[in-house]
Parts: sequence; C-alpha cells; structure tokens
Amino acid sequence: MMTPTPFDSQSCTSCPRHCQADRTRAAGYCGVGSKPVIAKACVHLWEEPCISGTRGSGTVFFSGCSLRCVFCQNYPISRGGVGWEVEPAQLADVFLELQDKLVHNINLVSPSHQAEAIAEALHLCGGRLKVPVVWNSGGYDATETILALSEQVSVWLPDLKFHDAALSSDLAGAPDYFACAAAAVRTMVQCAGVPIFDEEGLLQKGVMIRHLVLPGHTRDSIRILEWVASEFGSSVLVSLMGQYTPMPDTPGAPARRLMRREYVRVTEALFRLGLEEGYVQELSSAGMERIPEFDGEGVPHCKARVGKRSMAT
Ligand code: SF4
Repeated sequence: MMTPTPFDSQSCTSCPRHCQADRTRAAGYCGVGSKPVIAKACVHLWEEPCISGTRGSGTVFFSGCSLRCVFCQNYPISRGGVGWEVEPAQLADVFLELQDKLVHNINLVSPSHQAEAIAEALHLCGGRLKVPVVWNSGGYDATETILALSEQVSVWLPDLKFHDAALSSDLAGAPDYFACAAAAVRTMVQCAGVPIFDEEGLLQKGVMIRHLVLPGHTRDSIRILEWVASEFGSSVLVSLMGQYTPMPDTPGAPARRLMRREYVRVTEALFRLGLEEGYVQELSSAGMERIPEFDGEGVPHCKARVGKRSMAT
C-alpha cells in the first residue's frame, strides 16, 4: 500500500517548521519555493569511505535550509541566496548524469526542504537510477517526509547536532531540534534497518548518524551519544567529526576551533558507550579547504542564476 504523500506546495509541512507557506507563490522559511534550487552537482571524494569509496559520491548541493545554524559552513547556499532553479525533470537528468560518471551513489546534501521535488525527480528516474540514494540532511526532517521517501532513499545520513533545547534555539533557531531529529532518526532506522554494505564496503542501505562536536559543548555531544547508544546500540553507524571551523561575521557562533582535549573526551565516551561501528574524523581535518565552491558546476542552465535572493526571515 502506498504511503499518502505529505507534500502540499500551497501549505507546506515538508519539514518540522510546518510554516505552511504557499511555495507556489513565495519561498517559505527555508528560502525556497516549489521548484528545486541547486548550487552544485559533482563527484565528491571527501565523505566517509563507505560513501565516497574510490570513485566518489555523486553529490547534489541543495540551496536554502529550514535551520538557521549560526556556524553554517555552507552559508552562501543555505541562506546567502546562491543557487539555480531547475525543473524536477532537469534534476532527474542531473542524477542520471552523475550516475554516468560511475559514482557509488547519489548524495542529496541538505534535501529536507526540497523533498517534494526530489521525490518527483527520483520518480522520473525510475529504474534508470541503479545506485543507492543518500539522504544527507541536518536531521531536522519530518517523519511523514521520511516515510514518503522510504522506497526511494536507501541510505540515511542525518546529523544529530544538538541535544539541549536552549542550545539548538540559540545556535539554529530550533528549540525543538532534538525532539524532531530523534523522531526522524528512529523513523529512518525503522525504514532502513541495520547497515548493509556491498563487497567493496560501500553502504547500500542503513543509517549513519553524523555528529560535529562544537567547541565548549562536549557535554551536549556526550548526551547525544548516550541517546544513540541507548536507542540503537550498534544497529547504526556513527560518524564523529571534529572539523568545526569558525566562519567570519557569525555572531553567536563558537569563535574558536575544537581543542584536542575536548575531542578526546567525546571520543572516549563514544568508545565507552560501545559505538564502535563508524568513523572518527581526524582533528586535523578542520579547515576551509574542504568547503566546496558553489559555482553551479553540473547545474543545467546555470546562467539562469537565482543570485542573491532575499531569504524569508
Ligand atoms: S520545507 Fe520550507 S516551506 Fe516547508 S515547512 Fe519547512 S521551512 Fe516551511
């Protein structure tokens, strides 16, 4: 039986903001109307080894975002208005062209607020798309949206950013972040089950939770790991990251990099809790060099640049 689609462009509730914007007329809180807006589509080699493999991940960066993380490293596309509007059929072509480059998967970065268009594009691809689809989100996903995409997405790669409501309110404008993200991750695990890899070690199905340790907030990180361990044990992968990089002109964001002793404290908790399936990033990975340039690579008709759109506030 088909799951009823939750999408309604004229009263959008695709993400937990439930702002009910009429996206056929104007952008919602996420800054994007009903057509997909993308900033780059390329082969990406810097994800975890089970995602990037040897041939890379076919990555599509979506513009706009329903979170307002003050430390966002993709600010030009999340809130800065950089992106190019395409039709769902063109988005389907983008996925298929990436597949032609022999990538291991199609990696949808920040897709949550563009779920309806993504579902349509994946439907248009049909059986031509052979590689797994990866939902690479900030974790602020609506459970109804996850269920609607559960037959098209096989790898769920959500962040779990914050546990404390005051922290997520201050840093992302979302006091309900953990409640929503926890429900989302539970739903993803129900949909995908335990991780399944192919013979090359590439993740074909399953959930990998990412957590970026924030300077000065190791206690919050450990509470997240404790929750993951108690809910899922080793039936999910965990990717712990220490690459926090302070961005210029970001008031309210932690203004320094993570200290080694902070990262060691969280890493020790990870292993003490038995969360040994996954990855621990090298602390030396911090830096701007891995932040891609959002130049319209791989975007059809990128001359039709949306440019500095005024995002909804
Ligand atoms: S996806 Fe955008 S328009 Fe829809 S509820 Fe979320 S913020 Fe609002």
